[in-house]
Amino acid sequence: MRIALVAHDAKKEDMVNFAIAYKALFSDHELYATGTTGMRIMEATNLTIHRFQSGPFGGDQQIGALIAENHLDLLIFLRDPMLAQPHEPDITALLRLCDVHNIAVATNMASAESLLRGIWRGDLDWRNSLDEAQHSE
Ligand code: PGA
Repeated sequence: MRIALVAHDAKKEDMVNFAIAYKALFSDHELYATGTTGMRIMEATNLTIHRFQSGPFGGDQQIGALIAENHLDLLIFLRDPMLAQPHEPDITALLRLCDVHNIAVATNMASAESLLRGIWRGDLDWRNSLDEAQHSE
């Protein structure tokens, strides 16, 4: 699975702890992240992550582009619900693209954990068959 990780500043610590807790599972997948989130996770876990720009500098849009090209299977986006972000339009656009392309997305820890456990159980394996179907076209 190709998984993208984004966390607003107030949620970065949660994201790092989440990545530490699920490191074994994450290490079996292809990881993407916005700049600072990715750096924090890499420092704490040594996981390999493809990092994009920082969110306010275009990182959310770069992840959106992956979704538009069907190159992402899951987005975990720990948002700060208490603080308006300068790149709010980018965030809205990113979540909209998840809905457009039917990409599983979690915006808080409870749903993030459920989705990750879902990957473990194989709930998102249909994404692999979709991939294979596309490659055989
Ligand atoms: P960051 O971006 O990981 O570079 O901080 C996240 C965001 O604010 O969207």
